[in-house]
Amino acid sequence: MSADCIFCKIINRELDADIVYEDDEVVAFKDVNPAAPVHILIVPRKHIPSLLDLEKDDEPLMGHLHTVANEVARKFKLDRKGYRVVINCGPDAGQIVFHLHLHLLGGRPLLQTIAKGRGV
Ligand code: AMP
Repeated sequence: MSADCIFCKIINRELDADIVYEDDEVVAFKDVNPAAPVHILIVPRKHIPSLLDLEKDDEPLMGHLHTVANEVARKFKLDRKGYRVVINCGPDAGQIVFHLHLHLLGGRPLLQTIAKGRGV
């Protein structure tokens, strides 16, 4: 838990969010500024600022984030046409919330770009 982190506050129910999935390790909620019809953030409860802060012990957690993304994708019926997962790491990638998270995006054809932003 990091006191100033908005995602820690959502995880601890100090801040409202539209939570669509949770378990002992992960919380998933709708992005407040969606870039696609389905835009869910998959967030570990553990406060890891970015990919650069990952440690060896976090490897199972990273795998779990992806199986949760898969489960949430099925819940939002993205399994037929597919979805995109994005992780932004650091300022050049456009990371604005420094609590590691996967963006799960789908519900429309996504442009052939790996960039984030409204055109994802
Ligand atoms: P990133 O640029 O990868 O750090 O993405 C952070 C994402 O968090 C952005 O897409 C924001 O729209 C989203 N976001 C910021 N604050 C909230 C919030 N309180 N609830 C839900 N999503 C949020």
